[in-house]
Amino acid sequence: MIAIAKSNIPEILQKQRNFFQTGKTKDINFRLEQLKKLKELVTNEQPLIIKALKADLHKPEFEAYATEIGAVKEISYAIKNLKSWAKPKKADVPSEFFPYSAKIYPEPLGNLLIIGPWNYPFQLVISPLVGAIAAGNCAIVKPSELAPHTSNLLAQLFSKYFPQEYIAIVEGGVETSQELLQEKFDHILFTGGTAIGKIVMAAAAKHLTPVTLELGGKSPCIVDTEINLEYTAKRIVWGKFLNCGQTCIAPDYLLVNRQIKQDLIATLQKTIKEFYGDRPENSPDYGRIINKRHFERLTQLLNHGEIILGGDTNPEQLYISPTLIDHVSLDAPVMQDEIFGPILPILEYTDITEAIALINSRPKPLALYLFSQNKQLQTRILQETSSGGVCLNDTIMQVGVSSLPFGGVGDSGIGSYHGKTSFDTFSHYKSVLKNSFWLDLNWRYAPYKDKLALLKRIIK
Ligand code: NAD
Repeated sequence: MIAIAKSNIPEILQKQRNFFQTGKTKDINFRLEQLKKLKELVTNEQPLIIKALKADLHKPEFEAYATEIGAVKEISYAIKNLKSWAKPKKADVPSEFFPYSAKIYPEPLGNLLIIGPWNYPFQLVISPLVGAIAAGNCAIVKPSELAPHTSNLLAQLFSKYFPQEYIAIVEGGVETSQELLQEKFDHILFTGGTAIGKIVMAAAAKHLTPVTLELGGKSPCIVDTEINLEYTAKRIVWGKFLNCGQTCIAPDYLLVNRQIKQDLIATLQKTIKEFYGDRPENSPDYGRIINKRHFERLTQLLNHGEIILGGDTNPEQLYISPTLIDHVSLDAPVMQDEIFGPILPILEYTDITEAIALINSRPKPLALYLFSQNKQLQTRILQETSSGGVCLNDTIMQVGVSSLPFGGVGDSGIGSYHGKTSFDTFSHYKSVLKNSFWLDLNWRYAPYKDKLALLKRIIK
């Protein structure tokens, strides 16, 4: 294990500050080289990455490729577009400013801190780093201590591929995180829960450090009657039970039109069996809960409502079967905080107004899902609810589209990233106005006598 002693943090940061000051990271070719190196790391080290994810989360190989190693797509996208993103852009100048010209220059922020969570412990470190590198920054990254195999592997791989004065992995838990947060960074990107997000923001405020907070929340999934039942069930089951429900944008609970509820439940039950067999415990395609604390938290949630599928647990294996719960009260613990596990409460509505009112009475979620072919209903949900993002007639897939900014709103986060938005998040857009010497109009200079009328004509 390459653990960096915590007392080294100020030293590493100083080295990174010095490195940033050399200006090397501002060179676009340097950035492109580093992105290619990052791509090499992800591509060449796949067997080790898959093994670490298996050890931490029992992650099936397919899911490791689709949701973690898949970050390689983000790298390719940045490599392809970096030159155009990094180009200064001309800005319009009003005619009265003649002969000025204006441009906006993206420049790197400097020294970044990236704090990662445990649920996608590889991808949620790599993906912010793509933007950090593309925008020309140095970064210290603290992966989650709750996925120790992946955290160790990241430390080993990064020390092999990148010099510490450019990108450094600092392993550790809460104490290390807090020690890092005492330092002054130029930007912090934090992915984790809302409660810790507040701690991070408070620490950042002391240094006036801007933050991107990628948080979670209870993402609702509305199911209307105008759907293809089979596809709807498949897409919900996949999105909910992927990574054993430990996905920030997993559908947290269903809000189903009463008329279709029984049919949907029957199809969900059938689909879960098709996906994971009669004994999901034996399925190679089904993950495990990250640790005992989360396992116990989740099993407590099974005590309310009526379990209509699953509810089986095995503490030794940290296994909880895919579980559907009906007749859930809004006061039940499962309807309070983000579930973050393989438990799906099913609530019903008679009129969509009730569903919208319920969503709007709660903190703004990271994702909102609507299954319906009804265009009017789609428009109404988009207009009357607020969430980080929306996916119509599917789940999770929105996160894979690089042209869509990814982030929350309200309690589900501040700021966004992915694709060009990552470049924007880690850049400062510097406005530059240029005058020239071939002309100098006198209208703004003292003495102002007789110039006010002209000024009034200009400022209309
Ligand atoms: P967490 O908030 O417990 O931990 C995240 C990171 O913060 C870890 O690296 C941890 O070491 C550090 N940390 C923990 N306590 C701290 C403290 N007191 N001070 C400073 N740092 C501290 O989150 P988690 O359990 O790793 O992840 C689950 C949460 O993350 C869920 O709420 C989920 O929705 C959210 N999440 C969001 C996204 C997103 O992209 N928006 C992605 C994945 C997970």
